[in-house]
Amino acid sequence: MTAEELIQIDKDHVWHPYNSAHGTVDSLPVKSANGVYLELEDGTKLLDGMSSWWCTIHGYNVPELNYAIEKQLKNMAHVMFGGLTHRPAVELTKTLLDIVPQKLEHVFYSDSGSVSVEIAMKMALQYWIAKSQPEKNRFITTRSGYHGDTWHTMSVCDPINGMHGIFGERLTKQIFLPEPKSTFYEEFESAELEEVEKQLKKHHHEIAAFIIEPIVQNAGGMRFYHPEYLKGVKRLCEQFDILFIADEIATGFGRAGKLFACEYANITPDVMCIGKALTGGYMSFAATLCTAEVALTISDSNPGYFMHGPTFMANPLACSVARANIDLLLSSNWKVNVTRIEDHFKKSLAPLKKLNTVSDVRVLGAIGVIEMKEPVDMKSIQNDLIDQGVWLRPFGKLVYSMPPFNISDKELDKLTNGITRAVQAI
Ligand SMILES: *Cc1c(COP(=O)(O)O)cnc(C)c1O
Repeated sequence: MTAEELIQIDKDHVWHPYNSAHGTVDSLPVKSANGVYLELEDGTKLLDGMSSWWCTIHGYNVPELNYAIEKQLKNMAHVMFGGLTHRPAVELTKTLLDIVPQKLEHVFYSDSGSVSVEIAMKMALQYWIAKSQPEKNRFITTRSGYHGDTWHTMSVCDPINGMHGIFGERLTKQIFLPEPKSTFYEEFESAELEEVEKQLKKHHHEIAAFIIEPIVQNAGGMRFYHPEYLKGVKRLCEQFDILFIADEIATGFGRAGKLFACEYANITPDVMCIGKALTGGYMSFAATLCTAEVALTISDSNPGYFMHGPTFMANPLACSVARANIDLLLSSNWKVNVTRIEDHFKKSLAPLKKLNTVSDVRVLGAIGVIEMKEPVDMKSIQNDLIDQGVWLRPFGKLVYSMPPFNISDKELDKLTNGITRAVQAI
């Protein structure tokens, strides 16, 4: 198949994320990827500033990760997880338990981030059924959150600015608080927690869990909020007997400057979701972790089982590469690298604040965000970025980047110079 045929068939028949079947945007055909570069069919190399949506923290074609999959492939690609277990799942669990917040002791594997959030929500519902309080069956969250694209996760995404507004009344009605206001770098405005307390006081008898992305609200607006907010919410959940679900799918594995963003507030959630960077971007894989209190309450009450079990649960290839990915992360200078990227972003993107088209520039860990005053013309800015040899996928008013941790200083310069030129051209 020629590259032209490939593009035509793709345009005519292959859906892309949040896109039209008319193929209004030509998708770039990637032939291979190596280090921090994507190589297109025509040989063009693009520096990847997106880590394939938060996943490829070590870049592409990583020898250690390739090896983990190749080695596991010789034993088995997959076996069902009902009634069977295997080394890759058990070894990964041991590795995870060493690094996640203490008291998270039980791990439920699934195939994608959204599914892991569905599972977290089901755990919370089953927990309250087990406690003979089935009326605790709603969820509370903040505005500007994003938790996935499946049915119940959509109900806790921002109902207005999120991507699922079209489903409107069809979704379960959850309780929404204002978005956290004090930013990560500002003084904390403690009055914010009064509104949280007011709502919990009013609704706690019908709430199963509070769900939130710790510190970084990702696809719902790329906002960094204050650790005191997170700490306060956790404290109020305890006070009002509500489970606390941390969605660490984007923030997990170092991206925001801590291995898990919950560490900024020194809290252990009752339930935690991880995905995205879990396999270093090699495979679709996620996990929902919970405390013994949650797991055993569900298990000690009728029917005694947690009612979920995906076909590809704990896929051995995914478990093997996830473990190799975590080993590589822990043995690399990830913290030094994330701080290096943070310092570079702060220094090189700050001047953009002066442009009258830009409303804010913010950086946390290996995440750089430029918020424009108006929504960007995606096609036009993407073409400008590609001219600079850079791959980004801006959305709405946000031009943002979260590169692989092992990006070199020279490549960082190329990335931020490209971003600067493209933003100046708006
Ligand atoms: C990406 C993301 C999800 C959904 O994960 P998928 O693997 O795309 O289903 C859920 N929550 C957060 C915070 C995410 O960033």
